[in-house]
Amino acid sequence: MTTETADARTDTPAEVAGPVLDIAGLEVRYGRGRRRRRALHDITLGVSSGETVGLIGETGSGKSTLARAALGLVPLSAGTIRIGGEDVSAYGHRQWRALRRRGVVQYVFQDPLRSLDPDLTVEDSLTEPLLIQGVPRKEAAARARSFLDRVHLAADLLERLPGELSGGQRQRVAVARALVTEPRLVILDEPVSALDSANRVQVLEILKELRDTGVALVLISHDLGSVAGTADRIAVLYRGELVEVGAARDVINHPRHAYTRLLVSSAPTLRTGPADRSEREALRALLNA
Ligand code: ADP
Ligand code: MG
Repeated sequence: MTTETADARTDTPAEVAGPVLDIAGLEVRYGRGRRRRRALHDITLGVSSGETVGLIGETGSGKSTLARAALGLVPLSAGTIRIGGEDVSAYGHRQWRALRRRGVVQYVFQDPLRSLDPDLTVEDSLTEPLLIQGVPRKEAAARARSFLDRVHLAADLLERLPGELSGGQRQRVAVARALVTEPRLVILDEPVSALDSANRVQVLEILKELRDTGVALVLISHDLGSVAGTADRIAVLYRGELVEVGAARDVINHPRHAYTRLLVSSAPTLRTGPADRSEREALRALLNA
């Protein structure tokens, strides 16, 4: 599945024929018996190499459930999920663990303290997934340094513990850790929601720079405005259903579903204060394109 925006990046390695993440007819239910409730219904979505898909929806719409399903953390009631062409729908705990150990799929959560071990230094956090894969220590340390640089952090943070970092620094370490194994797919669940606006802009900028590594990104947010300038495509989740999927530009300029129209019309006013100006400008630029 390609988009017009993907065509512009001709240097993107085209190692995967189909989408890196390929979800078809996905259904997830929570609870048992009479308490059983449908959290996701008939979700079909593909995310290609080098592509960022922004998954947008209000609280409770099922965004985190979709993330959990793609990470093997909730059972599927129906449908299939393929990662890198591999059908993972029926994977058990052990197979998922092996897939994660191979570093194929990684994640970043809203709270970086959930993605980082509080007792590991930045260096250990970054080298651990590589050492598990059998990468020699010296090479792992070198890669840790280069990924720290990629998220615009200085090497003198390597000896710090997560508790000794600012929220923005912590989230950038979590992004670096997710990327250090050079995964095919990274799912980021509200990665910038807990950050102040300056850090939000910086982290989104870093994610944009990472696109040409060929990684497929799912960027989850409840706020259309904050990911509009970063996502190639936007998928809108509403009450467990995907109501609209399209090129970011098209969804913002020509929202079709009423909920998307509401999101678009309220996005600029959601942001206040001078530090959010660049986000507003990015959105306006898209709106005027
Ligand atoms: P979002 O991330 O968009 O806020 P979630 O995926 O967390 O939404 O939740 C979607 C729906 O599923 C909500 O109605 C929520 O209450 C419900 N839900 C989420 N996790 C669980 C769970 N572990 N058990 C039962 N219901 C859940
Ligand atoms: Mg959530």
